Amino acid sequence: MSQRATRQYLESLQRAGVTHLPKVAPQPAAPQPAAPQPAAKAPAPPAAQSQPPAPKPVTAPPAPKASEPVTIADVVAPIVVRETAAPPIAISPNATIDERQAALTVLSERVAACVKCQELADSRKQTVFGVGNPNARIMFIGEAPGADEDRLGEPFVGAAGQLLDKIIVACKIKREDVYICNILRCRPPGNRNPSPIEAGNCREYLDGQISIVQPEYIVCWGSVAAQNLLNQTTSIGRMRGQFFQYGTAKVVCTYHPSYLLRNPAAKTKVWDDMKFLFGDMGVTL
Ligand code: URA
Repeated sequence: MSQRATRQYLESLQRAGVTHLPKVAPQPAAPQPAAPQPAAKAPAPPAAQSQPPAPKPVTAPPAPKASEPVTIADVVAPIVVRETAAPPIAISPNATIDERQAALTVLSERVAACVKCQELADSRKQTVFGVGNPNARIMFIGEAPGADEDRLGEPFVGAAGQLLDKIIVACKIKREDVYICNILRCRPPGNRNPSPIEAGNCREYLDGQISIVQPEYIVCWGSVAAQNLLNQTTSIGRMRGQFFQYGTAKVVCTYHPSYLLRNPAAKTKVWDDMKFLFGDMGVTL
């Protein structure tokens, strides 16, 4: 690896919260058992998947003594990583809608002040937290805000959002019945895909929203949402037609409305996925 590539790699580790390098190569991690599936709603947040450690403030320490471990800050110029991780917001499964709304408001204030992804924080007009019923049975998760969402501060309000609204109406529900958010709360410049580091940085907010709303069902719209939430690399086409479990929620994965705008023939598959979801809820579409 070139010196420049090594430096970029170390800086990315540092941004992800890694502060020390091991002196010897670590042993391969033992395989993780599958997260147990709770039988009923529980107050605990969903099983954390591929969450990076909370970023810690990085300051330039004095030069290490020979016996001390080498820190990343010793070998790259210090960069500022501000502390934005806060204690998770605990909420009872029996919380009222007002209590859930209050918890979401607290979390949204944290999000509005977040600068973990410096590029996104510098380029956004505002953060896009999420909207909808704090007591929703169904949560919709998309990818990231686009230009319209960045301007208006609400998820799914552009062309893809208008198609999503039509799907919602076809399912005989209202937009206010569901809770809608994204993998990212800031618009990636040029609408590029979220990077893994950005998705990791935003994960505490997504998991916070899931823990507060405690939906029975989650719909992942598109591969970015499905692969990030479920820590999978499988294509969206292969993730369709089955339920995954995330914490206490059953998860359905389907095509993103933006994909449907480019490939209208796939609308019938999304309709099948909606019938699959609502059928499980006891509703025939
Ligand atoms: N708007 C959003 O809020 N999310 C998407 O994934 C796409 C458009």
